[in-house]
Amino acid sequence: MEKIQFDYAIIGAGAAGLHLCLAFIEDDYFSNKKILVLEKDTKTQNDRTWCFWEKGKGKWDHLLHRSWKKGYFHCTKYSKNLDLEDYSYKMIRSSNFYLYAKDQIKSHPNFEWKTEEVLSVNNNNGAPTIKTNSFSYQATHIFDSRIEKDFFQKDDDYIKLLQPFKGWIIKTDKPTFDTSSFVMMDFRLQWKNRTSFTYVLPLSETEAMIEFTLFNTQTLENQDYDKKLKQYISEILQIEKYEILEEEVGVIPMTDFPFHKKNNNTLTKIGTAGGWVKPSSGYAFKNCEKYASTIIENIKANRLPSHQLFKMRYRWYDSIMLNILWHNNELGTSLFADMFENNHVGEIFKFLDDEGTLISDLFIMKSFNPFPFLKALKRKYFV
Ligand SMILES: Cc1cc2nc3c(=O)[nH]c(=O)nc-3n(C[C@H](O)[C@H](O)[C@H](O)COP(=O)(O)OP(=O)(O)OC[C@H]3O[C@@H](n4cnc5c(N)ncnc54)[C@H](O)[C@@H]3O)c2cc1C
Repeated sequence: MEKIQFDYAIIGAGAAGLHLCLAFIEDDYFSNKKILVLEKDTKTQNDRTWCFWEKGKGKWDHLLHRSWKKGYFHCTKYSKNLDLEDYSYKMIRSSNFYLYAKDQIKSHPNFEWKTEEVLSVNNNNGAPTIKTNSFSYQATHIFDSRIEKDFFQKDDDYIKLLQPFKGWIIKTDKPTFDTSSFVMMDFRLQWKNRTSFTYVLPLSETEAMIEFTLFNTQTLENQDYDKKLKQYISEILQIEKYEILEEEVGVIPMTDFPFHKKNNNTLTKIGTAGGWVKPSSGYAFKNCEKYASTIIENIKANRLPSHQLFKMRYRWYDSIMLNILWHNNELGTSLFADMFENNHVGEIFKFLDDEGTLISDLFIMKSFNPFPFLKALKRKYFV
């Protein structure tokens, strides 16, 4: 059977695939390129909520569910009001993002969307071919958001920590929440001795999303998250009566696995599968926007699409932090507490966005107890 030829194929229309589609659409350079989107799912459900921070107005403001200019950080040692200055903390329901992106794609005839499951991708001597459950396609370059099987191998040298979480949107019968502030991290409730925290995103005076998460080697049993959520709501928020409206469960990998090594001149791994999740925090939504835009610039400049996506200095910092969380997981709580106690939130956001200068990075690092870092360096390079 004759294969249909495309310029680009995007496998997976999740956060990364759709950010990339929208970046292609925004740039006239690509208006004559034939672009195939292959997604196995219908993408109609609200399967996750994305939160992120950014300065001032942003590209997705028309899709925002909520945003906040003020927040709190809590730990057993102190509580701190976070004045976000010119940043906002923003929330998007994935269903709104999917709907918007699908509408944009539909109105651009150079795109073709197929609801098919990709079974394999082969380079075929420089003529990359995608086989799905119903057809085969060829594309000059493939952007692939499927996670490689190698990642799930247990016996390699990489740190594969997980950030599992569960959250509820709850409704109270009387005004309870201050809609002007969110809780970014609250470490007062811990899971055993693991780095674990709760966050609270007020949606109205009577509704809030409350999630419990931890950095761990495995996920928890469902009832363990429920116990922590109930405990947080009754003991910390002191809410007695509430109704659960929605639930969100997920796991985000926190890893130094070298996803980027699969990238070449016919294939770019994207999203979680491309290492776009910030290894030490689990945030990825804004990275998807940033890396999609870098890919566009790289293609136009005739460079490898994945050319210099990451700042290696920050990947190195992340790998040290992962090393600490892997070997001395309990220290994560005090590291975050030190960072938030001693720095302006704007500086912390810049650091976590990989956007600081060497000097501003040093100021953040100065706020940490150096010993866990020295031990991590020793483990990494001398053991
Ligand atoms: C519940 C949840 C909440 C999160 N919240 C945040 C947050 O608040 N802020 C933040 O920055 N990050 C968050 N993350 C992390 C990260 O932003 C998301 O996981 C993000 O969706 C990753 O984008 P992605 O494109 O790699 O994966 P996905 O969005 O999961 O997209 C992958 C797509 O590929 C499709 N697919 C997979 N295999 C195939 C196949 N064989 N054939 C065809 N299609 C296929 C899937 O159906 C899916 O649509 C969250 C993650 C989860 C799970």
